[in-house]
Amino acid sequence: MEDRLFRDAMGKFATGVTVITTEIENEVHGMTANAFMSVSLDPKLISISIDERAGMHGKLKHSGKFAVNILSEKQQDISMHFAGQKKENREINFDWLKETPVIKDSLVTIVCNVYSTHKAGDHTLFIGEVIHVETNEDHPLTFYKGQYGLETSHV
Ligand code: FAD
Ligand code: NAD
Repeated sequence: MEDRLFRDAMGKFATGVTVITTEIENEVHGMTANAFMSVSLDPKLISISIDERAGMHGKLKHSGKFAVNILSEKQQDISMHFAGQKKENREINFDWLKETPVIKDSLVTIVCNVYSTHKAGDHTLFIGEVIHVETNEDHPLTFYKGQYGLETSHV
């Protein structure tokens, strides 16, 4: 199967957008990800899927903890920044929750310890055990067919 067909099909699954954050050796690293899902209620588990070529991959394997920051509609620039889509040297001021860096003013922040990892092709599924959650009232940032927002002009 052509990669393009697969990507176009997957892109028709409308999602929210998250930034994964972690800290290792006093350095904070963030990465935009939409491959996120809720997995289990007892224990409370979530999953993210990280490309082996991403810098985040090795950092998560070593830090053993991370936060999933679900972005609000006001945070498109943050998503583009942490996807490397903006060529800028921007300083981000992170907040801290449970000794984990998090993105300020996110819609939801979920702090996790790595519960297990599962190699899946060229990605690794990181299962996170949720240790803390904070939520805000706002609208989500959405992503569909490679575009932010769900206006009908994109459909
Ligand atoms: P880099 O490319 O080094 O970092 C990403 C960007 O974040 C760079 O611009 C860097 O300067 C900045 N940055 C990192 N840390 C800091 C910091 N402390 N302070 C300031 N800036 C910092 N890939 C996946 O593997 N899984 C997914 O689910 C996924 N979903 C995506 C969803 C969307 C909507 C988009 C647009 C991309 C998605 N990607 C996903 C691709 C992924 O976001 C990019 O490939 C990303 O560049 C990989 O990041 P990296 O860890 O290799 O680090
Ligand atoms: P796109 O056409 O490359 O991606 C469309 C959809 O295909 C994505 O939303 C995702 O569901 C899937 N996809 C893309 N690349 C993938 C990969 N390497 N592994 C597994 N699934 C993948 O364009 P876009 O949505 O505008 O994405 C922008 C950039 O971000 C691209 O470079 C893309 O590869 C990357 N991205 C990676 C993932 C991922 O690794 N899971 C997810 C989304 C976007």
